[in-house]
Amino acid sequence: MAAVSRREEFSSMALFRSALLCGVLLQGGWLSAQSTSPPPSNPQLASPDIERKVNDLLARMTLEEKIGQLVQYSATEAHPAKNTGPTTAALNVNPPGPGGVDSSELAQKGELGSMLNTVGQALTNHFQHAAVDNTRLHIPLIFGADVIHGFRTIFPVPLGTASSWDPEMITELAHMAAVEARTAGVDWFYSPMVDIARDARWGRCTEGAGEDPYLGSAIARAYIKGYQGTSLSDLTSVAASVKHFAAYGAAEAGREYNTTDMSELLLRQVYLPPYHAAVEAGAATVMSAFNSLNGVPASANPFLMQTILRDEWGFDGLVVSDYTAVMELTRHGIALDAASATEKALTAGVDIDMNSHYYDAELPALVRSGKVPMSVVDEAVRRVLRVKYALGIFDHPFTEGPEVTNAVPEHRALARRAAEESFVLLQNNPVGGQPLLPLAATAQKIALIGPLADDSPDMVGAWSGANNFGDVRTLRQTLTERAQEHGGSLLYAKGTDISGTSTSGFAEAVNMARSADLVVMALGESSAMTGEAASRAYLDLPGNQQQLLEAVQATGKPVVLLIFSGRPLVLDWAAAHIPAIMEVWFPGVETGPAIANVLYGTTPPSGKLTMSFPRAVGQEPLYYNQLPTGRPIQYPDPAHPDAYVETKYVSRYLDVPNDALFPFGHGLTYTTFAYANVSVSQATLSARELTANPKAQPLEATAKVTNTGSREGTEIVQCYVNVRGASTEQPVRNLKGFARITLKPGESRTVSFPLGYEELSYYNAKAQSTVEAGTDDTVYIGGSSTAEQAAHFRVTQ
Ligand code: BGC
Repeated sequence: MAAVSRREEFSSMALFRSALLCGVLLQGGWLSAQSTSPPPSNPQLASPDIERKVNDLLARMTLEEKIGQLVQYSATEAHPAKNTGPTTAALNVNPPGPGGVDSSELAQKGELGSMLNTVGQALTNHFQHAAVDNTRLHIPLIFGADVIHGFRTIFPVPLGTASSWDPEMITELAHMAAVEARTAGVDWFYSPMVDIARDARWGRCTEGAGEDPYLGSAIARAYIKGYQGTSLSDLTSVAASVKHFAAYGAAEAGREYNTTDMSELLLRQVYLPPYHAAVEAGAATVMSAFNSLNGVPASANPFLMQTILRDEWGFDGLVVSDYTAVMELTRHGIALDAASATEKALTAGVDIDMNSHYYDAELPALVRSGKVPMSVVDEAVRRVLRVKYALGIFDHPFTEGPEVTNAVPEHRALARRAAEESFVLLQNNPVGGQPLLPLAATAQKIALIGPLADDSPDMVGAWSGANNFGDVRTLRQTLTERAQEHGGSLLYAKGTDISGTSTSGFAEAVNMARSADLVVMALGESSAMTGEAASRAYLDLPGNQQQLLEAVQATGKPVVLLIFSGRPLVLDWAAAHIPAIMEVWFPGVETGPAIANVLYGTTPPSGKLTMSFPRAVGQEPLYYNQLPTGRPIQYPDPAHPDAYVETKYVSRYLDVPNDALFPFGHGLTYTTFAYANVSVSQATLSARELTANPKAQPLEATAKVTNTGSREGTEIVQCYVNVRGASTEQPVRNLKGFARITLKPGESRTVSFPLGYEELSYYNAKAQSTVEAGTDDTVYIGGSSTAEQAAHFRVTQ
């Protein structure tokens, strides 16, 4: 059948929407004669009043003032010798840019439109006064900042909160960060990072939601809702910037800033969905990425920024480049000089140049010589002004009232819940007939060992906003209190440093372990080993922590291993020798209480992995939704259909199994769940009907889930779909639904997943979205990506 592609559908919807709006707007006198593109359709940016103001202002601006709106610097970019303004607050997250720029002076001349990582009322108001009081047109600045997982009240890194599979909670967390940051003059977040990450070597996987596009999309929407609320002009809302557009997470070999190269099919099927979900949810801004995609750097890529983002998705907010990404076009080798880098970036769709010192230096001459049409500059300026009007900062440019300068006591409960929900219990083997966790609430002597047990700076992970390390409650502090409450005691030894080579602390740690009833070890990475520019070629415990672990395990005492990390690590030895292992990521200000609550079972663990944990680094990139090969390890023997054969010539390693040590979706708790009656509501589905009604969800997949243990517990029920017989090879399975449910011991619940075009479509060889007739589809429902219980249906004409 002739399948309608999702792309065509979106473009025709966009055309229809634009035509409708144009009609309405022309009648209402909205459209200025100068406007070259349709007015926005994003309800948070679209208003006749805003369009009128934008066009009126634009008509009065000089070329220099227009260009000023497209220029962004931080306070620290100010020339050190010249800058006499207040010093920047604690958001120094980037190396110095080109320098030689005085941000105060530029703001006073109306030649600066926005600032980055400049936070705090004193500092933002200082620059805002420079811009508003001194300039001819009094255009305020917007203040963008890397608020990634909390502003002052730091909650777990995004890979951690994603492991909660709890988008509603993520919305609450995002809103909490916005509320705090707005008091400090920040009205624009460079978040969420929605880059799909399939390679644990890439340090930035800590900033995203992991390897899956369906979950990643749900989480992207959750952030936008939390940041932007229902109106950008609310003093508790900030503009979001979806980053890094696009496919930055596919950097080759997991090496930071590296090239990405992929088919359009893969791009659309795996990498684009979360950005698209964020744009559909109303994201006001997008950040272009550092990497090149299929030979064209993302920050000068018209296919990404014009064809996909604006034409197909109807994005009408602004695009900001990543930090100095415009300047880096010369290093990529697609621009010989600053002028051509500027021309390429702006005409491809980058509205704001973050810190390159290129737009301000080059655009005046480029426009005057006619190389860059004024209409292109005007359009970019319109987009910037629209966001400024929508944020309400023309009316309220300055920040007043009490400023949040520390973790907020009332926000700690949510930060703690987020941490508790983020932990993933990877393994909980019996010791003396009982799973080692939860810890008995009895008098025990506990030895707490490891470099991360009492370390505040490393608890907040990469991109820790404007946090104060003193706000962090460490594991040592809380476990000491808890052990005493139970009449026991806590002994502590650091054992070694995170990257240490000295074994001088080993003896104390081992002796302490010998004298205790039980050992809790806090091992893993430092914050600095994760985030930007933190790729690793080895994924094991850094320094000599593995040796320390082995020495302590050799005492024979039961060991609970807590892993602090921003990425999956290789834990093969630990999995074979340590009974209880829990991944705790970087949990934030409530580290201690959250871990203690989960260890003692006050709050049972409920997180599930959103990235596969490899057995060996050589398996990377490793992800559950792989394409099948023609040589799977086992395949049916045509001569004996019931038998499976295995030969040497199959797709596998000689030295390690193919599968993950801990797969996507895996996570245990203190009870167990059984799945039964996995079924689908229909044996067949019509491709034609699915395509004609893309919003309908005619198929229902269900399963009965029972808590078979003796404690209440939360399970994340997951629904996967596999399609066979399509014109393109489809992954062995893809997540298409999930639900967090809490069941009492013995309680059962039937969980349903509605499935329609959105869930059952995929891309054909022309990279068009489709549902084809004649496929055989399997639905799996269970507690991880290895769920085995299945039901089948066929897609007919
Ligand atoms: C990062 C972005 C960040 C920007 C501004 C860049 O180096 O890639 O994620 O938003 O800096 O700090």
